[in-house]
Amino acid sequence: MQLRDDLPAAHVGVLSRSQILTAGGTDREIRLAVAAGTIRRLRAGWYAWPTAEPDVVRAIAAGGVVSCVTALAVLGVWVPADGRVHLRRSRRLRGPGVAAGLSACDLSHRRSARTTSAVDGVLDALAAAAGCLASDMLTVVIDSVLHLGLATRDELEQLWAHAPRAVRRALDAADGTAESGTETLVRLRLLRLGLSVEPQVWIGRKRVDFLLGERLIIEVDSRAWHLDAQAYERDRERDRQLAALGYHVIRLTYSQVLDDWASVEADILAIVSRGDHLRDAAVAA
Ligand SMILES: [Zn+2]
Repeated sequence: MQLRDDLPAAHVGVLSRSQILTAGGTDREIRLAVAAGTIRRLRAGWYAWPTAEPDVVRAIAAGGVVSCVTALAVLGVWVPADGRVHLRRSRRLRGPGVAAGLSACDLSHRRSARTTSAVDGVLDALAAAAGCLASDMLTVVIDSVLHLGLATRDELEQLWAHAPRAVRRALDAADGTAESGTETLVRLRLLRLGLSVEPQVWIGRKRVDFLLGERLIIEVDSRAWHLDAQAYERDRERDRQLAALGYHVIRLTYSQVLDDWASVEADILAIVSRGDHLRDAAVAA
């Protein structure tokens, strides 16, 4: 007998002994698979298939499980890229000492998790992220979780019923409308300037990210790099057509939102202070 070959695909390529046994495997089969080189023992009770995600392998080998923003990214949630693998410590991993490129993040606010898989589920991952991210970035991540339907607002209210006020505020600021983290950041920052923007507005048959006033459209790139030549073409065509309808279009890149917001803010305020975001009589509907 040998281990079922559909096991790794359903579990990011890394399984605990108890997951393997639950799936019908036996200790003898595990031993034989390790001896044959089909799977690799990462630490006591954890095994990797060759298809395993390298980040997951590193976290488990280091004595933790993948959690926080790295686990959320595995689930498809928009998270800020910091180049590190965020893990939750197991009892074996004590103290601050984790290898370079790893970040040890503890579950916050009295939540305790039973480790059942190599990657934490959405609520445990969020509980770790609450202790790891600044407030705006936590709102960004919560927004993405709500938008994807990975958790309900009720579940998050329950998760953070006794959390510090900063965490509660981050939850209150999330509305689940944003399709990307950069959109959430733009919405939060414009609100803070006292500018109320309408997200995801239909203009004819085009949906734009934000409408400020009556005719300032703000489009926000969700990713660090634009690799898609077709999307590049399409975006320019949209901008031109919206300009023909009398709208001003500002397109913000990922790095402008994350790293150069002060310049973006100054430009938007310049437009608003002239009243250029308001519709004048000459513009047709
Ligand atoms: Zn973290």
